[in-house]
Amino acid sequence: MMGLFTRRKTVFVDSDILVIGGGMAGCGATYESRYWGRDLKIVCVEKANIERSGAVAQGLYAINCYMGMQWNENQPEDHVRYARNDLMGLVREDLGYDIARHVDSTVHKFEEWGLPIMRDPKTGRYQREGKWQIMIHGESYKPIVAEAARKAANKVYNRIMVTHLLMDRTNTNRVAGAVGFNVRNGDFYVFRSKAVIVSAGGASHIFKPRAVGEGMGRTWYAPWSSASAYALPILVGAKMMQMENRIVLTRFKDGYGPVGAYFLHLKTYTENAYGEEYESKWRDHTKELVGDYVDRHPVPTCLRNHALLEEVKAGRGPIRMVTKEAFQDPHKETVGWENFLGMTIGQAVVWASQNIDPKHTNPELTTSEPYVMGSHATCSGAWASGPADYAPSEYQWGYNRMMTVDGLFGAGDTIGGTAHKFSSGSFTEGRIAGKAAVNYVNDLGSEQPEVSEQEYEDLERAIYQPLETYKIGRNEIVAGTVSPSYILPINGLQRLEKIMDEYVGGIGSFYTTNEPLLTRGIELLGMLKEDLAHLGAEDLHQLQRAWELHHRVLASEAVAQHTLFRTETRWPGYYYRADHPKLDDKDWHCFTLSRYDQDSGKWEMEKAPVYHIID
Ligand SMILES: Cc1cc2nc3c(=O)[nH]c(=O)nc-3n(C[C@H](O)[C@H](O)[C@H](O)COP(=O)(O)OP(=O)(O)OC[C@H]3O[C@@H](n4cnc5c(N)ncnc54)[C@H](O)[C@@H]3O)c2cc1C
Repeated sequence: MMGLFTRRKTVFVDSDILVIGGGMAGCGATYESRYWGRDLKIVCVEKANIERSGAVAQGLYAINCYMGMQWNENQPEDHVRYARNDLMGLVREDLGYDIARHVDSTVHKFEEWGLPIMRDPKTGRYQREGKWQIMIHGESYKPIVAEAARKAANKVYNRIMVTHLLMDRTNTNRVAGAVGFNVRNGDFYVFRSKAVIVSAGGASHIFKPRAVGEGMGRTWYAPWSSASAYALPILVGAKMMQMENRIVLTRFKDGYGPVGAYFLHLKTYTENAYGEEYESKWRDHTKELVGDYVDRHPVPTCLRNHALLEEVKAGRGPIRMVTKEAFQDPHKETVGWENFLGMTIGQAVVWASQNIDPKHTNPELTTSEPYVMGSHATCSGAWASGPADYAPSEYQWGYNRMMTVDGLFGAGDTIGGTAHKFSSGSFTEGRIAGKAAVNYVNDLGSEQPEVSEQEYEDLERAIYQPLETYKIGRNEIVAGTVSPSYILPINGLQRLEKIMDEYVGGIGSFYTTNEPLLTRGIELLGMLKEDLAHLGAEDLHQLQRAWELHHRVLASEAVAQHTLFRTETRWPGYYYRADHPKLDDKDWHCFTLSRYDQDSGKWEMEKAPVYHIID
């Protein structure tokens, strides 16, 4: 490497446990690793700054996963039933139960650390927004959680983007660390670690967003959720599950303001453009597709989207949230606004800019572009070993939350099968993974993993290549940004989003795809992957964008492969296989698993059984 980056340093960091991504799950993992591993070296690496990083960066107004066992409000079994129903039967009940039984203690810690949780003045209990949600003054939620992680870690490395995992030089299925670069000064980092916990969040911007051009940064899930959580394990051959289970959200239009507090606390409801209730109209039609799931309570999230989409397709949009009635009550009006001010300020700004006062105008709702994540009403992610006391033997091959690669753990959006864990459940899963990783490290004895110098040197060359490609290719053009010899990360991103939108079921096709579309989409993704070798990065910021794009493309390929494999429409409202429009419990009441082979570029697909442990 020449010029600007000749002064680049290589920094070696040794640890027992390396946590990649200091969001909710990463902070939980860091905190708990220290609790059980007093003498271990625990390092957390984050591409932003853990003080305000991840999906909770802006703050939240509710903690969406709290049992309330101290008041006998819900039991862990109830939460498993709830998540299972919402995901049309397909969740890892062992993993979900494991989170649910520990999540209350996590929330109590948050309160002890200073998070203000609202209380019901009559009962003294936490103020419920819904059956599972409690309301918080959560503008500083992330800094509070980050402080606990900072105090627990030997060191937190901020501003370092992890690009690849490193493997043990003798055991090719054992992790040995990770590499990345400092996005501010360009230094190359080699992390050598006995265990690695990936907690790098979900994936936005793999499908074309509704907001394009100058508004493209506005998505529902955080725009910096760049699919590293999936790409890092996929590249080293970890099995992934249910990657077809992308999520689409009904949100306030243009600002993506969440609707939970409105439905649950303010008791608002929706209607079509002509002031009519529409959900019940689509009941029989939906029943033909999915059977009695449509009669369940609560109706699964995807099916509620489905009714909205059908009503819009029938030409009776836009769908509106009826806020005018609730906002007459000054308390509810305050809650309605504060809900956004503490969590999605952009929605309040959009309403102000569009002359929408919800007291006088019922605001429009719309469905988002799809996202891939593991912690909301969806559960894509890595296939993980379950808890020793609860998981069926087929779901147990090692330590709790360990993937199919030795020493590689995950939590939060990274881990599949556990929908509805949200912020508190993600932190809890981080704690579970942290404890298990400590056990793994303690059990290693003298069997320490070793990184190969050759491997990280090869990766170093590959990681910085886009800077070189740009520097050389830039000479071929006199003006503008279009070069014959490189593509810029933004061009690659838009190409990815277009492929995913048109072929894999995005907004442009009303979330609909089929085998021929998916087959062509996969071919086009393959061509895009080849072209990623020609990415050009003008500076370190663009270098980060380049590697985020690599991660997004690989995760997208997983989504397309899984969607092709599952020949049914399991979650209408999230996506449709037009060639297999119905739910097919006979053949598809199962998980889909994939394994990527980096050398051949091939995906192996298989089915895994769904065990119902709870009645
Ligand atoms: C708009 C919105 C509203 C929400 N509302 C609620 C709510 O009301 N209640 C609730 O409980 N939950 C809510 N959630 C969900 C909650 O935020 C997530 O469930 C939770 O943050 C997931 O935790 P995580 O640790 O997996 O991911 P995150 O918290 O997103 O953390 C991932 C971290 O990894 C870092 N990272 C990513 N890639 C790399 C890399 N390559 N190298 C280094 N670091 C990397 C990121 O910068 C980030 O800090 C909401 C989320 C959003 C976006």
